[in-house]
Amino acid sequence: MSLHFGTLYWPETCAKPASYAALNEDVKTRVAIVGGGMSGVACGYELARSGMEAVLIEQGRIAGGSSAANSGIVQFMSDRMLGDFIGTLGERDAVTLYRACLQAVERLLAISERLPRGAQARRRCSLYYASTPEEAAPLRQEYELLRRHGFGADWWDASMIAERFPFRKDAAILTHGDAEFNPYLFVLALAEEAVKLGLSVYEHTALKSVHHAPAGSGARFVVETSGGTIEADHIVYAVGYTPEQAGGRWIRARTCRTYAIVTDPLASLTGWHERCLLWETARPYLYARTTPDNRLVVGGLDENLRLPVLTAKELRAHSLRLLSEMNKLFPQWKPEIRYEWCGSFCESADGLPWIGEDPDRPGQHYLLGYGGNGAVYSMLGANVIRDNLTGNDHPASTIVRPDRRVAIPGAGAASSV
Ligand SMILES: Cc1cc2nc3c(=O)[nH]c(=O)nc-3n(C[C@H](O)[C@H](O)[C@H](O)COP(=O)(O)OP(=O)(O)OC[C@H]3O[C@@H](n4cnc5c(N)ncnc54)[C@H](O)[C@@H]3O)c2cc1C
Repeated sequence: MSLHFGTLYWPETCAKPASYAALNEDVKTRVAIVGGGMSGVACGYELARSGMEAVLIEQGRIAGGSSAANSGIVQFMSDRMLGDFIGTLGERDAVTLYRACLQAVERLLAISERLPRGAQARRRCSLYYASTPEEAAPLRQEYELLRRHGFGADWWDASMIAERFPFRKDAAILTHGDAEFNPYLFVLALAEEAVKLGLSVYEHTALKSVHHAPAGSGARFVVETSGGTIEADHIVYAVGYTPEQAGGRWIRARTCRTYAIVTDPLASLTGWHERCLLWETARPYLYARTTPDNRLVVGGLDENLRLPVLTAKELRAHSLRLLSEMNKLFPQWKPEIRYEWCGSFCESADGLPWIGEDPDRPGQHYLLGYGGNGAVYSMLGANVIRDNLTGNDHPASTIVRPDRRVAIPGAGAASSV
C-alpha cells in the first residue's frame, strides 16, 4: 500500500536522482540500516562520519517514501507544546527534549551547508498564532515557558501582527531557530555524501527476515534481503510509517492522514513578513511556507483516518479547503494549485518518537521519528543512534527510548506500553 496519493512537488525539483544497484551478493558490516528516507540516510551519514561501517538497504528508491511528501518545515517546537511535555515528562526532560530538537535543527542546517548540491535549506522564524481570541492566554503561558528556558521567542500582539501581515490575529509567538528545506534534495544529497564517507547503499533491496548468526561467524545477525544477505552486529529499523517492518512489541502507533498543496509561483510575496513559517494553535492546524521560486506550500487539517484518500475528486475537495484557508490569510493573492497530495503519518500517544535499542532484542534499534516535526525527530534519532553505537551519551536518549513509560496528557500516572 502506498503511503501517499496525488502529485508530489519535490521530486519535480530534481531531474536525475542518483541511483544505486540492488544488493546481489552476501556482505558483512557493523550496522545494517533498513530504510532510505530522511531517518535511515541521516543515520547512515552520521555513522559514516564517525567512521563506523554500515550498509543501508531501501526497498524502493532513496527518498521515495514519506520523505518525498514532507512539506519541508523544520521546527524545534513539536505538535506538543513545551507546557504539555512538562505536564507529562516533567520539566527537566521536557526542556532537554526541546533543546535536543533545537540542536537537531542546527545540525540539519550545518549539514546542508556542506552538501555540494544544496537542499534549499534556510533559517526561518515561525509565527505560531492564536487561532481564536480564547487561545491567546494559553499561548502567552507557552511563550513565558519558552523564554524562561532560554528558547528564542518574541510575543506579538494584534497590532504587531497587523503591521506585518494582511490578516488579523489576537496574538502570536515568533520563534527563532527554525528552518525550511527541500526534503527530497536533502535526503538524496545526504546519501551521496554518506557514500563518499564510506556508507554502502542498495536500492530495490527489501528486508525479508532477521536471524541470529551461527556461532563463530563473527557477527550477531544475518539479515536476509530480496538480494544477498547482510551479516551485521546491529540493525537499525528506519522504516518510516510501516512500523510492522521493525518487529518487536514496543511500537503502538496511530495512523492518520494529512494533506498538502503547492501553488504556481506568485509574482511577489510582498505582505508575507520575512517568509516566516506559519502555523496556529487550532488542532488539527493549518501550516504554510514559501519556496525559493515564490510558490506557497500549505498543509495540515489532518484527519484521524488510516488510509490516504484514493480518488482525485476527494483529494481536490481537501486541497480546495487548504487553498480557501490560505486565501483568508492572504486575500490579495489568487494562487492556483499545481501539486496536491495526501499522505499517511503515524503518531505516538505521548508525542515522542521511538528511538533506541529494543531491550527484548539487543542489537536491534528503532529510528521511528513519528510526530509533526518528523524531520527534526529523524535528525535527532540519527544522533541518538550514533551516540548509542559509539558509546557516547545523548541527553535525549532515555526520553525517547522504545521502552519508556508512556505518559498521556490527562491520563493520570504513566504506564508501561
Ligand atoms: C504530507 C506530509 C507532510 C509532512 N510535512 C512535514 C514537515 O513539514 N516537517 C516535518 O518535520 N515532517 C513532515 N512530515 C513528516 C515527515 O515526512 C516524516 O517524518 C519523514 O519523512 C519520515 O522519514 P523516514 O525516513 O522515517 O520515513 P520514509 O521517508 O518513509 O522512509 C522509510 C523508508 O523505509 C523503506 N522501507 C520500509 N520497509 C522496508 C523494508 N522491509 N526493506 C527495505 N526498505 C524498507 C521505505 O521504502 C521508505 O523509503 C510530513 C509527512 C507527510 C505525510
